[in-house]
Formats: sequence, structure tokens, C-alpha cells
Amino acid sequence: MRVLVIEDEPDLLAGIARALRDEGYAVDTAADGEDGLFKAESWPYDLILLDVMLPGRDGWEIVRRLRERGRRVPVLMLTARDAVADRVRGLDSGADDYLTKPFALDELLARVRALIRRGADQPAPVIPLADAVLDLRARVVLRKGRPVPLTPREYALVEYLALHRGCVVSRTDLYDHLFGEDDDTLSNLLDVHVSNIRRKLGHDFIRTRRGHGYCIE
Ligand code: CA
Repeated sequence: MRVLVIEDEPDLLAGIARALRDEGYAVDTAADGEDGLFKAESWPYDLILLDVMLPGRDGWEIVRRLRERGRRVPVLMLTARDAVADRVRGLDSGADDYLTKPFALDELLARVRALIRRGADQPAPVIPLADAVLDLRARVVLRKGRPVPLTPREYALVEYLALHRGCVVSRTDLYDHLFGEDDDTLSNLLDVHVSNIRRKLGHDFIRTRRGHGYCIE
């Protein structure tokens, strides 16, 4: 899952980005409204974390423009003041949720998980897969009740395919949603992750549709 964080406080931006990357999300960042809107319109993000007060364009304008252009990406607004009017304005502009600063990272991560689930039309936090279960809350794959030791990036790949289970997901889609702007996108990286996952979960856990992409049944 690929997340865009638009925030002009450098320490907060770095802290949020690090916490998300530790969880296996691909993270892009923008420190002002212009760059943020440009990136938001350029890539198919699974979620945008959007500060309200930004140089360039403010968060309200960014979310309004995205909605005007038909972008359905979930948006979580980060509001500096605990003012009702600010929160109402954010939600009315098209944001899906808000968090008031200062916030606990654990709460931010929980809201990120919930919004991504909702964006993927997956209301239940657990997805059954062949002989395993994917738990979106704990971000873990369980087999016979035991967690399978996946790296955060391997988990992210399984999660993306599981949220689109039964569908063939193209390599381009996987690169767009699993790797951020700073990631090394050597073309064989995806194959390495897939073969590591197959070693841990069985060869048929991820099926290859030659010339089309990958699929979890
Ligand atoms: Ca700000």
C-alpha cells in the first residue's frame, strides 16, 4: 500500500514516514501544498495523510480539488487545532477522517489501516486465504494459528494481492502500490519478494499469470 504524506513540519513528516515504512507501507512525502497536490494527482495512492495548514495550498483546497477531479483516494486530515469548524470544513471538503495534533502514532496507524480497508471495500479485518488467514489489524499472515515470518515488504505484497483476491494484479500495479518514490525499483525486485513468499507459504500461494501478473485465489 502506497501512502502520500503532505506535512510541512520536517520532524513530524519524518516521524510519520518512518513509522509507516516500518509497517511496510511505501511512502512518498511532500513538504508543501503545491508538491503535495502534484504528487496526489500523479500516482494512485492508497491513502493520503494531509496536513491542513501548508505553504502553497492548504489541505482544504487540496482535498477539494482531488474530489472535483473524481479522485476517490481516502484522505486523513491532520488538524493542528481542536476546532470543530476546522474538522467540519475538512470533512465537508471531502476528507474521510481527521486526527488532531498532537496524536499518538498507534492511533494514526490504526486509522490508516481502517481507511485502507474501507478504500479497498474490505470491511472485515481478517481475510481467509487457502490454508492461511491474513489479519489486517496485526498485519500478519497466520497459518495453523501461527504467524508466518514475512518481512514488512513481503507482507505488503500479500496484503495487496489478498485485498484483490481472485483478480490478476499486473506487475505495473504492484510497482505503483508497493514501492515509493525513494525505493530502488530494479525490475527483478518483485520476483525476489514473490519467490521468498512462495518459499514460506507454498509455491501455489501466489499464482503467476504469465504476461499479466500475479493472483491469490
Ligand atoms: Ca502545517
